[in-house]
Amino acid sequence: MEKTEKKERKIILTGDRPTGRLHVGHYVGSLKRRVELQNSGEYDDIFIMIADAQALTDNADNPEKVRQNIIEVALDYLSCGLDPEKSTLLIQSQIPELTELTFYYMNLVTVSRLQRNPTVKNEIKLRNFETSIPVGFFAYPISQAADITAFKATTVPVGEDQLPMIEQTREIVRSFNHIYGEVLVEPDVLLPDNQACMRLPGIDGKAKMSKSLNNCIYLSDTEEDVRKKIMSMFTDPNHLRVEDPGQTEGNPVFIYLDAFCRDEHFAQFWPDYKNLDELKAHYTRGGLGDVKVKKFLNQVIQSELAPIRARRKEYEKNIPEVYRILQEGSRRAEKVAAQTLAEVKAAMKINYFDDQELIQSQARRFGEN
Ligand code: ATP
Ligand code: MG
Repeated sequence: MEKTEKKERKIILTGDRPTGRLHVGHYVGSLKRRVELQNSGEYDDIFIMIADAQALTDNADNPEKVRQNIIEVALDYLSCGLDPEKSTLLIQSQIPELTELTFYYMNLVTVSRLQRNPTVKNEIKLRNFETSIPVGFFAYPISQAADITAFKATTVPVGEDQLPMIEQTREIVRSFNHIYGEVLVEPDVLLPDNQACMRLPGIDGKAKMSKSLNNCIYLSDTEEDVRKKIMSMFTDPNHLRVEDPGQTEGNPVFIYLDAFCRDEHFAQFWPDYKNLDELKAHYTRGGLGDVKVKKFLNQVIQSELAPIRARRKEYEKNIPEVYRILQEGSRRAEKVAAQTLAEVKAAMKINYFDDQELIQSQARRFGEN
């Protein structure tokens, strides 16, 4: 008999920490892709999570910051085109099942494995946690595994810094399924296809644009703020005079152009060049000043941000509706997570009251009828 193959459902989970407004690094690293995937119609389910419980792991003394930024992140989502009709927007802390899964997964991960996680190592340094790492922060890769597996996500679109987290999740899934039986789904990571978008540098030239480093262009910055930030950006430090040859590699202005600019931007704003390769060639030859390039970059980024800014203004007029969207999304997400948790508990044999067979066999063992 022919085996009928079970069609695998395609499910996305991804999210952001509500530690600040979202920036253009989030946009090119993950957010823009999510909207494209959402609109492709290829996914059966899309869960977008505001990771407030994770944000509290390194902001335990500042709950107000997390609370304030929930709505900021939600507004950023909606203004970028995430559509609550097509994607479920949820708040992590409102799904208690995620905490429960985390607790059980903790038994499947060793302390030394967590210590080897390069992203966590880096973040510990960044936060000066060396001697006082909160246990919750140290263990956040485990809670991220709970988030991903609770929704049986097959695809996780994220920036490069998240690779070690997805690897950790995959290990937990394999370990769980090996011990308890096939319940969890191993997710695949979906990185940006453009190198510049994997880890967009900050306007200060530092390796990563990050809320914690204060080097961001925010999606909700005003037109004037964005212009000022771009005009003050780092470029090639050896490109002192216009006629000097310049370097485009490692030059943040050109990395941003790699991330944002398309040929049609040249047609629209700078028809002297056909495409980015021509512009780079001129800069490398010498005879092209940084100010001109920055002005072009400003036009490119403004054209991307203008519609986002306009949509944000609209949503800002109806904040209670945004909270309602989050509440409804969280409710819907909880139903899905509860189903997974029930399967997990059954596999782990901690579903005593649902298991009539257990109750009957114990009854027989003790000689009852
Ligand atoms: P924090 O400093 O609080 O960790 P963050 O700016 O690193 O904030 P996160 O909420 O940790 O933002 O990351 C959310 C998502 O955005 C992740 O998928 C991450 O890979 C992606 N991302 C964050 N910063 C960048 C960046 N500079 N370039 C590309 N992707 C990024
Ligand atoms: Mg981060």
